[in-house]
Amino acid sequence: MNKVAVLGATGSIGASTLDVIARHPDRFRASVLSAHRNVGALAGLCERFRPELAVIADPALEGELARRLAVAGVRCEVASDHDALTTAVAGNLCDTVVAAIVGAAGLASTLATARAGKRLLLANKESIVLAGPLLLEALRVGGGELVPVDSEHNAIFQCLPGGRPGLRASGVRRLILTASGGPFRGRTRADLAAVTPDQACKHPKWSMGRKISVDSATLMNKGLEVIEAHHLFGAPADAIEVLVHPQSLVHSLVEYVDGSVLAQLGNPDMRTAIAHALAWPERVEAGVTPLDLATAGALQFEAPDLDTFRCLALAFQALRAGGDAPAILNAANEVAVEAFLAGTVPFLAIAEVVEGVLAELPPQAVVDVESLVARDSEARAAARRQLRRAC
Ligand code: NAD
Ligand code: MG
Repeated sequence: MNKVAVLGATGSIGASTLDVIARHPDRFRASVLSAHRNVGALAGLCERFRPELAVIADPALEGELARRLAVAGVRCEVASDHDALTTAVAGNLCDTVVAAIVGAAGLASTLATARAGKRLLLANKESIVLAGPLLLEALRVGGGELVPVDSEHNAIFQCLPGGRPGLRASGVRRLILTASGGPFRGRTRADLAAVTPDQACKHPKWSMGRKISVDSATLMNKGLEVIEAHHLFGAPADAIEVLVHPQSLVHSLVEYVDGSVLAQLGNPDMRTAIAHALAWPERVEAGVTPLDLATAGALQFEAPDLDTFRCLALAFQALRAGGDAPAILNAANEVAVEAFLAGTVPFLAIAEVVEGVLAELPPQAVVDVESLVARDSEARAAARRQLRRAC
């Protein structure tokens, strides 16, 4: 029995993960569930999945969670303090951790999972963008394995030979990340000036949390994924290409030096990547509708429009700048997206703020978690200053 901690259980990835787990009660058990503030949803999941521990990030809600569980007759431990998740992932409550918290808030638990040598199913891309070298070092020290859940990286993982011999030794020329293009594909900058958060969150192919939905609309999501691919697979920026593919059936591709191009295909449903990562190297049923290529229609591919969707160009710029530039990019983006979702700044301000903060804070070498967290705070403060000017 594989005991699985689902961090961010009340979110979109959390729900897909629990759906796969529920299909295989003989193999997987959800032993730890966590959420930020949605105490009702977390209590409901605890009633259904009966974990050993439930963690609510907001300490003010711990009593309420305990009360609801008692009323429902659910006997499980409840915690909320800052270290509860890092302690839980390192202890014997779980073998596998699904890192599905959104944003830099997932960093500490992701790093703790890696250090503890548990199998890390990484959905929380912000943590690897923010702290790539430190996460890789923690994985090396912990000796566990990381299986990517982000669909593009999971696709690339499936198209690479096993055993991680390195891209050059495997004869890989390029990694090709596909992007749906988001809800605003084909629009001009002028078209985007007045778009609303609800329009930005209406993704044509995927149903996801609001932050990643906005990232998909700006193409920052693809930018974060380029940096994620760089760290996960050791690919230099020049060996990573982004290709817009509106049907979202080809989840990414790997090009080899002999001209072979391997792709992973499937219907756009995160349960495929999650089931693959949970069971790897085996395969389990995921509840996903089989792909019927005969009726799927034409598959289109096109180059991304980097002038309209500046965020993708800015992510490449940050990756090439090196040091902690990706952390600065991520922090500025998180602040700007939050402000856009709150309705206080226009859509185009997101790229402007990220660009301004990258210019204001030249990259520094990544030393340790503490200095990185300090730089993250510095970048957030700079982003807030720029936002006040943009309002
Ligand atoms: P979501 O907003 O639906 O869920 C986020 C989860 O994180 C919730 O359970 C929430 O309670 C928890 N959370 C939020 N802030 C927290 C905090 N400060 N402390 C503790 N917990 C907190 O997001 P999602 O769409 O499920 O995405 C989760 C992560 O997975 C993101 O990093 C996203 O980029 C990545 N991802 C998502 C998808 C997708 O299809 N949704 C695909 C690939 C990668
Ligand atoms: Mg993705």
